[in-house]
Amino acid sequence: MHTSNLVNQLAPSATIAAAAKAKELRDKGVNVLEFTLGEPDFTTPDHICAAAKAAMDAGHTHYTPATGILPLKQAICDAFQRDHGVAYKPTEVTISNGAKHALHNVLAACCDPGDEVIIPTPFWVSYSALVELVGAVPVLVETTEESGFCMTADQFRGAITDKTRMLMLNSPSNPTGAVYPVDALEALANVAVEKDVIVLSDEIYDKLIYDGYTFKTFASFGDEVKNRTIIVNGVSKAYAMTGWRIGWTLAPENVSKAITKLQSQQTSNPSSISQYAAIEALTGSQDCIPEMLAEFQKRREYVLGRLRKMPGLTFADPGGAFYAFFNVSSHFGRELPGGATVDNSSDFCTALLEGAHVALVTGDAFGAPGYVRLSFATNMETLEAGLNALEKFLS
Ligand code: PLP
Repeated sequence: MHTSNLVNQLAPSATIAAAAKAKELRDKGVNVLEFTLGEPDFTTPDHICAAAKAAMDAGHTHYTPATGILPLKQAICDAFQRDHGVAYKPTEVTISNGAKHALHNVLAACCDPGDEVIIPTPFWVSYSALVELVGAVPVLVETTEESGFCMTADQFRGAITDKTRMLMLNSPSNPTGAVYPVDALEALANVAVEKDVIVLSDEIYDKLIYDGYTFKTFASFGDEVKNRTIIVNGVSKAYAMTGWRIGWTLAPENVSKAITKLQSQQTSNPSSISQYAAIEALTGSQDCIPEMLAEFQKRREYVLGRLRKMPGLTFADPGGAFYAFFNVSSHFGRELPGGATVDNSSDFCTALLEGAHVALVTGDAFGAPGYVRLSFATNMETLEAGLNALEKFLS
């Protein structure tokens, strides 16, 4: 049967593909040490699950308004004011099936075919695919380990053409963990105003910030910036709620209206039960956030400490999220026991999976050849075993 050219050209999600490869090996009985997936290993806190059960018991099992119920929109506004000191109105909020869906909504609502969307590399695997899906054109701007994987204002200005519609920014970043310093963000914001470019700020990791780093929302640099900013966030990472599929946008009212129209035709509302759970996540006890962060911080120190001692690896310390992103290119050209050589990051990941049963994601998937990503959203025991195996593999 025919499948469309647009979808045929689409690359499948590399992180999901890497996890599938690891599962294949596991199904054969191999004990694979798995570091591919970007989701907290914690279960959703009890009080949030209880709110979902209460919602079911209360009969909240029907369609809701297309972009979500008012109490959740209000809770999102209140939480944003509480956490970041910036005011939004419920009419500026749309709720969708996860932050990934929210990103698609923004691109579909704001971009015309042929519009250019600037994406600093390394970028999260889905960004370029989501841009292409709406017929827009990703414009990749390379950032380096030396600059902490942050795009400068000059780079941003240099990438802008008369076709530029949007910048997709992600701080803290998946895959690098880079947190843009406040002055670097402000410099980007000034360019966005000067050149009238929309900034889609994906702030899904805003609660996962490590000691010594500061998070600032892109919407906090005054009205001229806020009027050109669309914030994407959700409950997946901060509250260990990846399976509940609740994400959202905070955007100027005309964009929210456009997304509402789109979503009403496309998917209707996100799960009613998950919406009630998300209200509890945002308005109930926030203790789970520092608890999970403390655990991630411990793992981060352990992982970085181990990687520093391994031969030929370089990286920039992640300031947020739960990934270590390191350069393995000094190991390219190495011969493996079977006679094959490792020539790139994908070869490296395949050899590591087959030879040491450690699953990482290739940097090629993030527009960063030479690098690999290790997710430390997994328990210490697995991390220790995985890093032992990696160390042995490298030496
Ligand atoms: N944005 C980034 C940068 C991510 O890493 C992810 C998930 O990995 C998402 C968005 C999607 O989040 P959700 O699970 O809410 O769709």
